[in-house]
Amino acid sequence: MFCQNCGTQLPEGVKFCPECGAPVVISEPLREEPTVEEPAIAADPAPQQPITETPVQQPIVQSNPEASALSTPILIFGILGLSFACIPYINFLGIIFSAIAKSKVKKFLGLGGVLSGKAKVGNILATIGLIVGIVLTVIFAIIITIMILGIILGTLGEKGYIRGW
Ligand SMILES: [Zn+2]
Repeated sequence: MFCQNCGTQLPEGVKFCPECGAPVVISEPLREEPTVEEPAIAADPAPQQPITETPVQQPIVQSNPEASALSTPILIFGILGLSFACIPYINFLGIIFSAIAKSKVKKFLGLGGVLSGKAKVGNILATIGLIVGIVLTVIFAIIITIMILGIILGTLGEKGYIRGW
């Protein structure tokens, strides 16, 4: 190290030049300046990123792909179940399709599926389809039984009334 005033070589540790008496200026503080700027720049964009990303990721983590592959068949069989359950004389087909949808719902839940969207709608339709299918099948079975009894009894008036259904 040399004196900045007179250029004399200085021994280490001295605070004043032994030749001219000028205070020894240590050049080390100059190295600290670039390191101070770096964290100041990096600190600005860092806190903005996690705030916008975290709420989007949470709802995506739901059922596994095997379970979600069953959601479309559940909806299709649910629609078929309720549709056929409402068709006179073939209501029993509604019971069959609804039962298929229900068995797929059971499998879906077994695979860790979360009932939402298509699977949820399909499950509701299958439940209604089962109830409607069973109730109407019983009603039409009674009607058919009465009709057969009417034919057997040969009561033409009663037969004509029931046929209006
Ligand atoms: Zn000096």
